[in-house]
Amino acid sequence: MIDLKSLTIEKAHEAMKSGEFTSRELTLAYLTVIKERNTELNAYLEVFDDALVSADLADKRFKDGTVEIMTGIPVAIKDNILYEGHLASAGSKILKNYIASYDSFVIRELKKAGAVILGRTNMDEFAMGSSTQASAYGITRNPVDITRVPGGSSGGSAAALAADMALVTLGTETCGSVREPSAFCGLVGLKPTYGAVSRNGIIAMGNSLDQVSPFGKNVRDAEIMFNLMSKHDKEDATSVPDEKRNPVYKKAKATKIGIPRHLFKDGVDPEITQNFEESLVKLKSLGYEIVDIELPFSKYSLEAYYIIMPAEVSTNLSRFDGIRYGHSVQGGNLMEVYTKSRGTGFGREARRRILLGTYVLSHGYYDAYYNKAILVREKIKNEVNKAFESVDFILTPTTPMPAFKIGEKMDDPVAMYLCDIFSAPANLSGVPSMAIPSGKNMEGLPLSIQFMAPKFCEEYLFDIGKKFESVNK
Ligand code: GLN
Repeated sequence: MIDLKSLTIEKAHEAMKSGEFTSRELTLAYLTVIKERNTELNAYLEVFDDALVSADLADKRFKDGTVEIMTGIPVAIKDNILYEGHLASAGSKILKNYIASYDSFVIRELKKAGAVILGRTNMDEFAMGSSTQASAYGITRNPVDITRVPGGSSGGSAAALAADMALVTLGTETCGSVREPSAFCGLVGLKPTYGAVSRNGIIAMGNSLDQVSPFGKNVRDAEIMFNLMSKHDKEDATSVPDEKRNPVYKKAKATKIGIPRHLFKDGVDPEITQNFEESLVKLKSLGYEIVDIELPFSKYSLEAYYIIMPAEVSTNLSRFDGIRYGHSVQGGNLMEVYTKSRGTGFGREARRRILLGTYVLSHGYYDAYYNKAILVREKIKNEVNKAFESVDFILTPTTPMPAFKIGEKMDDPVAMYLCDIFSAPANLSGVPSMAIPSGKNMEGLPLSIQFMAPKFCEEYLFDIGKKFESVNK
């Protein structure tokens, strides 16, 4: 029996190299857990029937000695990542039968490395949501407490990892969709620098914000996934060329942490605040210097995000018209085909955001909303970059509350949007951010803190994350 709970990528790699177990055996172990647990959790929408074929190919590579660290490692992917010949529905009915016609950049990298792609995981429709209750394919449950949500929108990938149904998983972030579920499920979640990982082959939500992001059971696993994916891709205009990836502020030793306390004065669960203070004590004991900082414009992050994102969403989702992709309803004329296909293909939240986005982009309102939000975003970007002239990290709680109950916040979109309050600054400013477990509350629910670092300083995050992990066992 393979001990999946304590397995890491490096341990699995060593075990496959020494012949302790094969990738086929490892893959079968995960498939067994999936069989046992997926009906209850609904983490996977589909398990790919070619997973064992990839495992056998990986085993052959172990025999030939042509392995990399990810060879034979079972990975689950979010349902908005294109994998040629496999369904990718972005959690939406409108793409129910859509089969990817090409591989996304990240899948190409996983394939080159010989990883095993186990299946695709549930998500809020088109990545809109913070709880994975807005999928056309049912809710996903949190393995830590099945009466609670796993967070979202990449809740399927988080639940799959937390329940040992994969060794590592991929999600995407537009505003917290990996960090928030990692907080709710007790995992590490990394949102890379915007432009570090190619968006090529990712079903777009908000192009100026989206970034493929890994979940790991520990910092090292997330780091391995980041290293695999963080490469220039000339097919994505927003992918940053290698020579421009040099961090501006990179120092030999990152030691100073800035705390924008004014951002979390109100509306934060007292247990989160207490855990945050305890985490600061641990970080001080590790030798970090803690200082207060002010980010006056960042308190408008959520407002700016919920204008910019729907604007981009309404544009992106216009391509789903019942003619070119997936779900289509016949009508008496072309307009009827559009309205019926879109009206029945999109769920409530997707329709709400299309309406919002169309409104903020419409003639007469564009200046009042969209243009203003873009200006606010610029201010946020500038102040975050400026803060990194005097500190190496910015630290906040990851979410204002621990995992909430299934059913909560579904009738109150604004309450749901508030979950993203600490996530938005990193996505808007493009800097990397990593959420890391920081303990549990009285009910045993995971709690989490989140570090932001200067652009292309993911290494800072891995370093502090590993140190924090070592005192937070
Ligand atoms: N909660 C965010 C939203 O609903 C999640 C976006 C994301 O990161 N995909 O917009």
